[in-house]
Amino acid sequence: MSEWKLDSHTIMYGVFGDPVRHSKSPIMLNRAFREAGLNAAYAAFHILPGTLKDAVSGIRALGFRGVNVTIPHKVELMSYLDEIDEGAREIGAVNTVVNDGGRLIGYNTDGIGYVRSLKEETGIDLRGKRVLMLGAGGAARGVGYALAKDGAARIWIANRTREKAVELADYLARHTEARGIGMDEVAGIVGEVDLIVNNTSVGMHPNVNEVPMDTSLLGERHVVSDLVYNPLITKFLNDAKARGAVIHGGLGMFIYQGAYAFEYWTGLPAPIAAMRDVVEQSFKE
Ligand code: NAP
Repeated sequence: MSEWKLDSHTIMYGVFGDPVRHSKSPIMLNRAFREAGLNAAYAAFHILPGTLKDAVSGIRALGFRGVNVTIPHKVELMSYLDEIDEGAREIGAVNTVVNDGGRLIGYNTDGIGYVRSLKEETGIDLRGKRVLMLGAGGAARGVGYALAKDGAARIWIANRTREKAVELADYLARHTEARGIGMDEVAGIVGEVDLIVNNTSVGMHPNVNEVPMDTSLLGERHVVSDLVYNPLITKFLNDAKARGAVIHGGLGMFIYQGAYAFEYWTGLPAPIAAMRDVVEQSFKE
């Protein structure tokens, strides 16, 4: 790793969010820049509702090369950009901005980051697979789109609020076979699916003893994946593993959404191992 210095040539990056002080993106991306020997720095900016437009003008005025954008700004941001990548337009949210000489281009790396992590960590080939997604919020939309684009043959979406599952299924039906169901219908289809993804916040700290579905229905035929990464291994995943399923935690999605952003900004392959290492270390502190 080269010596790290900030000087008059340092290229600036950051994350815009509210809240933002819990974000692990600065430690992850600064480690990536350092590992790649780039003179670049990444900071967290607490951007309050109503100030996003000014903050985006700031990207241009200050010559930032790029930013990540998180809750609650991913949708509003789209109105202030010059160009939006097709995937981000489809998903209806942007989490990464590239400043190409004053022209701001928006991407969504959440869904593709999720799928890259899932494939690399479990070896699953999504072509022809049948998927059950639990939850129908913002993350589910990006994940569902990326799974469909990667060849998933059929996706069931189960959600506490059934109407939202049906709405998401109607949207995904443009890309694959999709059906929205209530949580009470999960038991009837779980025996038919290969991959189960928790897109809800159930099981997230501090509610670490909660699970998003009846885990006695899980078995060896399943790959079970959880977007939650605090804790790194949820009770849902621990139960699934005990029943013989292959498991996949949410940290990989976070790492790879950042890896895609790094690659869009720099044109270099992301130093994945170093990025994962620094984030895992930070969870132990
Ligand atoms: P969101 O838009 O607020 O959606 C939340 C989803 O969880 C909805 O489907 C909601 O159902 C469901 N839900 C919440 N509490 C529930 C409960 N007690 N019982 C049953 N269902 C419940 O949130 P999001 O942005 O999609 O994020 C969802 C999860 O993914 C969060 O835990 C987030 O941390 C995680 N995430 C991880 C990554 C990563 O990089 N690994 C990236 C993005 C998100 P209703 O529609 O019925 O309210």
